[in-house]
Amino acid sequence: MKQSMTFIPTLREVPADADIKSHQLLLRAGYIRQNTSGIYSYMPLAAKVLQKIQNIIREEMENAGAAELLMPALQQSELWQESGRWYSYGPELMRFRDRHNREFALGATHEEVITSLLRDEVKSYKRLPLTLYQIQSKFRDEKRPRFGLLRGREFIMKDAYSFHSSQESLDEVYDKIFQAYSNIFSRCGLDFRAVIADSGAMGGKDTHEFMVLSEVGEDTIAYSDTSKYAANIEMAPAPMEYEKSNEEPKDIEKVETPNQKTIEEVAAFLNVEKEKCIKTLLFKADDSFVLVLVRGDYEINDIKVKNLVEARTAELAAQEETKEVLNCVTGYVGPLNIPTDVKVIADYSVQSVVNGVCGANEENFHYVNINPDRDIPSIQYADLRFIEEGDASPDGEGSIKFARGIEVGHVFKLGTRYSVDMNAMYLDENGRSQPMIMGCYGIGVSRTMASIVEQYNDEKGIIWPLSVTPFDVHVIPVNVKSDDQVALSDKLYKDLKAKGYDVLYDDRAERAGVKFADADLIGLPVRITVGKRAGEGIVEVKFRRNGESQEIHADELPGLLNDLFLR
Ligand code: ATP
Ligand code: MG
Repeated sequence: MKQSMTFIPTLREVPADADIKSHQLLLRAGYIRQNTSGIYSYMPLAAKVLQKIQNIIREEMENAGAAELLMPALQQSELWQESGRWYSYGPELMRFRDRHNREFALGATHEEVITSLLRDEVKSYKRLPLTLYQIQSKFRDEKRPRFGLLRGREFIMKDAYSFHSSQESLDEVYDKIFQAYSNIFSRCGLDFRAVIADSGAMGGKDTHEFMVLSEVGEDTIAYSDTSKYAANIEMAPAPMEYEKSNEEPKDIEKVETPNQKTIEEVAAFLNVEKEKCIKTLLFKADDSFVLVLVRGDYEINDIKVKNLVEARTAELAAQEETKEVLNCVTGYVGPLNIPTDVKVIADYSVQSVVNGVCGANEENFHYVNINPDRDIPSIQYADLRFIEEGDASPDGEGSIKFARGIEVGHVFKLGTRYSVDMNAMYLDENGRSQPMIMGCYGIGVSRTMASIVEQYNDEKGIIWPLSVTPFDVHVIPVNVKSDDQVALSDKLYKDLKAKGYDVLYDDRAERAGVKFADADLIGLPVRITVGKRAGEGIVEVKFRRNGESQEIHADELPGLLNDLFLR
């Protein structure tokens, strides 16, 4: 492609509202433009990168036995009503009405559509298993669209769905897709980890997220410093056993703690360790309230709370709700003298508290010398806190460290959640009607592109891995008024294209400095500069990865590129 014919609107300045590398560089190098919050146009270079990533995905999905299809982005509300998600999905689902006043959603995901498609077409176990996928724009009205392509409101996703007549068959396909995902992200050059993720109320290890390791990632990965264990921090089980002091239990006492609300304040005021305090928070889980306790030096994990009480949502109760349920202001909430219909659950760490401190459900008062098993008869213990760095790894090997990650892929064993609600049945070998067992598997394609840039850049711009670069080679005549330079550049452009390389030819009448700066910003792996020695057939080859350059004869180029690209 001649650069004068394509459109690469580079910017010299760092755009003010872009605060991470991938967002800045994709804007500056002319790959993307924002249309409005969370909505972007992919310019020609980005379109090529996306194509390359999609081709890798297609190859690996086909190897895993998945067939590509394309489903509509416009989805009638009836399907979402059948699954129940019309009501539970929340404002992320973009909804609208057609001219007949019928309600629709813009596809945020396609479980409903594919389940409705297959239930009408697949009647027998003989047609299963079946794995289908598509690559398509998805729409989610994210609360905080940010970081450019990392969290958009319209983004490109590869989504796959598998259908089975047995759990073993699902397990088998899940493993195949897991392997395909590992291949895809490796081929994209990414440094990533597959981590155990949250599978909601079902629990278990039947879902993994693929995380690109990056400081700007919104997720925290808890991994073992010695074994292969890695999990999303939301999921990682915290220890169940804690050392308990052999102090004698003392009598409980109410003490005045004026204006001391946080654990830090109370611990300092009463001159006790944070480990002696019991943090007590009122949660609203769906429509009921639970009191959640954790030792003062730890944090409550609301996903674990949600899973334990098997609620759809669990979040901290609002000020007014706390007032209404406990007749108390936040800061002084405690587990004693509470209404009988409020359940008390405590993290295992609370078991270690002897003669502890907790709120008295009365403004400006706390109790001291509380002993949980003695004083809170209805207490139920569970794993409810976030794992922390230094905790023992849940697999028993080594201790936990944290890293930040960007979720680029997600594989999930759905089971029969959709087939039961949507009546997707097949006849088994004995002629009995059974719900199809399902799996679903997503990759954020546009997010993957941004993640690659996040891992491959320097102060001058992007440095594309060979597998996903928009063009392989950048041919740059220094002076387009020189006949020698133009003649040799034309020839190289033609010859290299004939050899199967994707070539970007900077035929613009710009100053050399501008062309070089743009080339570094755009980030193609190989730059061929055709300059003063063009008459002798000599060019300069420079590698973007390490900045190394050498002068060689143009005839030697195919050999050199051959080695680099391993063709
Ligand atoms: P997140 O936790 O980041 O919001 P999710 O768990 O809701 O993502 P999934 O429903 O698992 O996302 O979607 C599959 C994949 O689509 C994700 O692994 C991610 O790579 C990508 N993705 C999800 N939301 C976005 C978004 N707003 N912008 C870009 N990519 C996204
Ligand atoms: Mg996910």
